[in-house]
Amino acid sequence: MDDIAQSLRHIQEQIRDFEKKYHRKLNSVALLAASKGQSLEKIIAAYEAKQRLFGENYLQEALAKMAELKNYPDIEWHYIGNVQRNKTRKIAEHFAWVHSVADAQIAQRLNDHRPAQLAPLNICIEVNVSHEASKSGVNLSEILPLANFCQTLPHIRLRGLMTIPALENNFTDQRATFEKLALALKDLQEHGIQVDTLSMGMSADFEAAIAAGTTIVRIGTGIFGKREGK
Ligand SMILES: *Cc1c(COP(=O)(O)O)cnc(C)c1O
Repeated sequence: MDDIAQSLRHIQEQIRDFEKKYHRKLNSVALLAASKGQSLEKIIAAYEAKQRLFGENYLQEALAKMAELKNYPDIEWHYIGNVQRNKTRKIAEHFAWVHSVADAQIAQRLNDHRPAQLAPLNICIEVNVSHEASKSGVNLSEILPLANFCQTLPHIRLRGLMTIPALENNFTDQRATFEKLALALKDLQEHGIQVDTLSMGMSADFEAAIAAGTTIVRIGTGIFGKREGK
């Protein structure tokens, strides 16, 4: 499991290098380890190498891991998968963040199911910047009304925007897509909505995301290697 510590260190170094290269503030980009399809042993190895933010996509898999890792209470769990309506209670009970809120009904249900004794659930609105039919997420024009609605819900806290763009192999196209999301965040701020988060950038495109202003990169295979199963 030394290789996990080593690849984490390598990714962290790259993040710091790209912050410098693109004139971003030092440590302004957080690393979320996307651990779907990765073993407990690998997650623990990452934890021991000081990783604390972990992202999961499948509720059953995530709950099983959380139960096994209950002696690691300072892990911050982020839900980054599709939110199914019938899963909102468990998601609201067990996660600190949900990156993938794509409609008002999901936002409402997460709010209603968030236990009152917990801090508000941090959420991002998922945006389908590349207009792919196969992907969930709202269109750019739907962000503001959904953001305004989220502001009325006391048990969720809108933090910003998230996207999973179409696979682009060249840096210029990747960056152009991410800049659309960065502009959308700025637009929300100009409407007086206090948001501070851009969740964008994965193993294959996080340099472009950092260039465009991301604040959370979600990296799986770049840390853990190939996923099992799914
Ligand atoms: C799996 C996943 C990632 C990580 O993808 P890699 O290519 O393995 O870095 C990031 N975000 C989401 C939403 C994912 O599902």
